[in-house]
Amino acid sequence: LTDSTYRQFVNPEWARLLELLGMNIKYRRCLGTELYTEDGRTILDFLSGYCVHNTGHNHPYIVEALIRELQTSGPVMLQSNIAYTAGTLAERLTSLTGPHLTKTFFCSSGSEGVEAVIKFARVFTGRNGIVYAKGAFHGLTCGALSLMGDPFWKEGFGPMLPETYEIPFGDIAVLEAPLQQHKIAAVVLEPLQGEAGIVPAPPGYLAAVERLCKKHGALFVLDEVQTGIGRTGTFIAGHRDNVQPDMVVLAKALSGGLVPVAAVLMRDDIYKSVYGSLKKSIIHTSTFSENALSMRAGLATLDVVESENLAARAEYLGTELRAQLSQRLSRFEMFSEVRGLGLLNGIVMQPPTSLRLRIPFQTFRAIHPGMFGQMLVMRLFQHHNILSQMCGNNFMVIKIAPPLVITEDQLGHYLDAIEAVMETVHS
Ligand code: PMP
Repeated sequence: LTDSTYRQFVNPEWARLLELLGMNIKYRRCLGTELYTEDGRTILDFLSGYCVHNTGHNHPYIVEALIRELQTSGPVMLQSNIAYTAGTLAERLTSLTGPHLTKTFFCSSGSEGVEAVIKFARVFTGRNGIVYAKGAFHGLTCGALSLMGDPFWKEGFGPMLPETYEIPFGDIAVLEAPLQQHKIAAVVLEPLQGEAGIVPAPPGYLAAVERLCKKHGALFVLDEVQTGIGRTGTFIAGHRDNVQPDMVVLAKALSGGLVPVAAVLMRDDIYKSVYGSLKKSIIHTSTFSENALSMRAGLATLDVVESENLAARAEYLGTELRAQLSQRLSRFEMFSEVRGLGLLNGIVMQPPTSLRLRIPFQTFRAIHPGMFGQMLVMRLFQHHNILSQMCGNNFMVIKIAPPLVITEDQLGHYLDAIEAVMETVHS
């Protein structure tokens, strides 16, 4: 596929945007935290494919596990067999996520997991309502999109699911009203909002939501698609708050970034309410669910997360990173704060009154008023070989989400680079 066939048959506007950002680079190879380009640059990944590469790119142990799986010539996809690796992966996930979540439904993406959550919550409770938070990002399929906390993504796509209710994130006082006034099946939340701008739930918030859900007979669901698999310093971010969600969605990093896989973990009684009879055993399925490669990648990824102690590593590196960022960036007018958990962090910007604008700021302003932070992202990439991005629903926040295998030296390089970049655009 050449550049021009990509433009002709896939997405010319995407190619144009990458060009505008100076990011239309050809990559030759990726390993761990490093991306090697055709023209000889080594770029440090501080995006991780939006939290897909927690174990780093092409982790040799996971690659090897996949090669061995293929070499067995076993049934990768039959759909008329019992996939034993699926049982093993589900058992591991239960032990890592919560002993009460004893059943797992596997699928291929985070959005698909959220779709399952909506359907399962409705069957289990016999209600339709779903509560979600402002700023939330749960995916772009129609059901998940209905729970999107930013109208940008919904424009032009017609009617969304009825009976969905948006609440401000982090404010427990406003939750009881929808639970009292409507028939709510589930409250679906990210424990730390990723795309909204790296917004951790305030202390005690998730536990209070859990209590209110119980009181009103609604299910409490955590979308850990971005926060899970050690990213935020614990296996799932919900562990930090000692909550026991009724369902948890995992995806992204679950397969080491190599093959698509997602998992919805739930209580046995919820599962039974959907699949409780022979007749209903296929009522909600997905073609690639439980395929041998995804399951093997999941198992190998969990091996790496555990053997390399990646959650604890994220916790300790993240704590140090936030302290260093606050210390080194607080002298800049455009710096507001740094926030996050583990190695999912955000630098919150405020528009400075004066900037030395040597790059096309007006072009970015035309796309979004908060786009000036994109200038920093571009400079990090062009001058310091660091790949990063703004948050999808909040362009005032630069996301910092490197693979959890990042070294202290590489984090040091980021600190020097972000400080230098802020220096160059500040007047
Ligand atoms: N939930 C969250 C919290 C996410 O961040 C995302 C993706 N950014 C999704 C769901 C959707 O996942 P996918 O793109 O795999 O469908």
